[in-house]
Amino acid sequence: MQTKNQIAIDGPAASGKSVVGKLLSKKLDYLFLDTGLMYRAATKIITESNILFSDLKNIKQLIKKASFELNSISHEPRLLVNSKDLTDSLKTSQIDKDVSTVSKIPEVREILVSHQRKIAKHTNIVMVGRDIGSIVLPNATLKIYLDASVEVRTNRRLNDSQQNFTHNDFDIIKRDLIQRDNSDSNREHSPLIIPKGSVVIDTSDLKITEVIDSILKELENL
Ligand code: C5P
Repeated sequence: MQTKNQIAIDGPAASGKSVVGKLLSKKLDYLFLDTGLMYRAATKIITESNILFSDLKNIKQLIKKASFELNSISHEPRLLVNSKDLTDSLKTSQIDKDVSTVSKIPEVREILVSHQRKIAKHTNIVMVGRDIGSIVLPNATLKIYLDASVEVRTNRRLNDSQQNFTHNDFDIIKRDLIQRDNSDSNREHSPLIIPKGSVVIDTSDLKITEVIDSILKELENL
């Protein structure tokens, strides 16, 4: 039986999951795990090892022996992979482009999902991603699905100062977002779906604080 509170937040790219999840975890004093960072980190170490995305055998070996550790001091979560803090190096346009290819690989998903469940086992947690309510934590206390129009999401990406884009073009970013959403929603394993029992929140016209308030209200009403 699950005794800890688990809040699962899923949704497409730039729907607000990370910023909302992080602030919510601070408010509730829960751990925060952004699983997207784990897929990004897997993509980075595969690329840096010069392994082709088609070389499933070596990818599996590399990801299996890698250590993934979440260090959360003062609610500022840092992702350490093989003891190296990769947190600030994962939101590049190249990783944006490649991550959906890596996240399609069932062997990679299996290993990362196992790490994610272990992290969630003994603590209250807010976990965000694409398959949290459906696969990783199907018995989560509360499941939220955040959405927003593709135009709003594109603007958010443009304004995101952490992004290291080599271009600054609305149409290109919009096209890339749509491509990544399509790939994440139509893949064979653990596609992005609205998990059964989720509360759907369209964040297009909402402030972050309004989104958080409505999630807190859902939590109170359980
Ligand atoms: O959330 P973020 O945009 O950082 O996620 C990057 C990518 O990681 C997604 O586009 C998706 O391909 C993959 N992902 C996933 N399952 C998760 C979280 C992220 O497949 N739970």
